[in-house]
Amino acid sequence: MNRIYNFSAGPAILPESVLQKASQGVIEINGSGMSILEVSHRGKDYEAIHVETRERLLRVMGLSTDDYTALFIGGGASMQFAMLPMNFLNLGDTADYVHTGEWAIKAIREAKRFGNIHTAASSEDRNHSYIPNELNLTPDAKFIHITTNNTIEGTEWDGPDSTKGVPLVADASSDILSHSVDYSRYHLIYAGAQKNAGPAGVTLVVARKDYLEQANSDIPAILSYKTYANADSLYNTPPVFPIYVVGLVLKWIEEQGGLAAIDRRNREKAALIYDALDAHPDMYDTAVTDKKDRSLMNVTFRIKNIDLEKSFLDDAKARKMDGLKGHRNVGGFRASIYNAFPVDGCMALADYLNEFAAKNG
Ligand SMILES: *Cc1c(COP(=O)(O)O)cnc(C)c1O
Repeated sequence: MNRIYNFSAGPAILPESVLQKASQGVIEINGSGMSILEVSHRGKDYEAIHVETRERLLRVMGLSTDDYTALFIGGGASMQFAMLPMNFLNLGDTADYVHTGEWAIKAIREAKRFGNIHTAASSEDRNHSYIPNELNLTPDAKFIHITTNNTIEGTEWDGPDSTKGVPLVADASSDILSHSVDYSRYHLIYAGAQKNAGPAGVTLVVARKDYLEQANSDIPAILSYKTYANADSLYNTPPVFPIYVVGLVLKWIEEQGGLAAIDRRNREKAALIYDALDAHPDMYDTAVTDKKDRSLMNVTFRIKNIDLEKSFLDDAKARKMDGLKGHRNVGGFRASIYNAFPVDGCMALADYLNEFAAKNG
């Protein structure tokens, strides 16, 4: 197969070696005479994959299995928008949310069904083109929720320096496992797998064990973190195949040299594209001007002369680049360059940005 440069925001590119191994697993797993799609989730072949993938996830994130646990849940990150407050808020409780974009507001809307939701900061005044510095935190909040990478707007951060003791919870759907960060700063972190960690169908939830002990028990079993924690995420049939592929992606990350190596490469990749955009300020607007807030995962930009938008996309297609159109709600362009996206694809886009500016400038 002749692979194109797939800049799609999600589901997104996976390492080719992972696709090869996953396709073998679809035919036969561990010489069992069965496909990964056919084995029992209670059988030894799957159980070994399940346990190993949970351990590997925590290891890659640098978290101890004494303090943290990894859960595999269905329903996408969108289900976590509701599940999180359902588990941690009771009538009269307050949670702080930082509103940094479209995914954050969806999380806020769901949370409002379960408690008092206080917006600790918002970047709405400038179209979410920056990360707010000042947070107005509620002292007795049950948790503070942030979105680490704003997939649509193209901003990224690891969260505030201090939360004054309030548990920090993060939606890291589009930048989990993408850079070096002290993951122990989060009490709970969740991510739909389909951007950086695997295929659609499983959501990774990594949480402090002592925090999960504080979760509500009087809620539907299938929406209770305790159910997943107590049953090692085997309460009901888990998304077997997506978890298997997440395991392959985690192995691939370790082979690359872990998150430190991934971090270096992602910074190099993003710099190639941002540098090309910054070199032609008459042609391009980077959506996020403050460099420290720029996402390493989703590079958002516009062409100043909107009449050129169509030819930009058409010529990109001819160069085997796909998925560059911005999110339908914000327009413009977006280059999503998750972990598996190759350096040479970023070079190709940088070259194209330079040539396009020279030709049309
Ligand atoms: C994609 C995305 C989501 C939604 O994920 P689903 O798994 O489709 O529910 C939520 N938050 C962020 C930051 C995302 O990028």
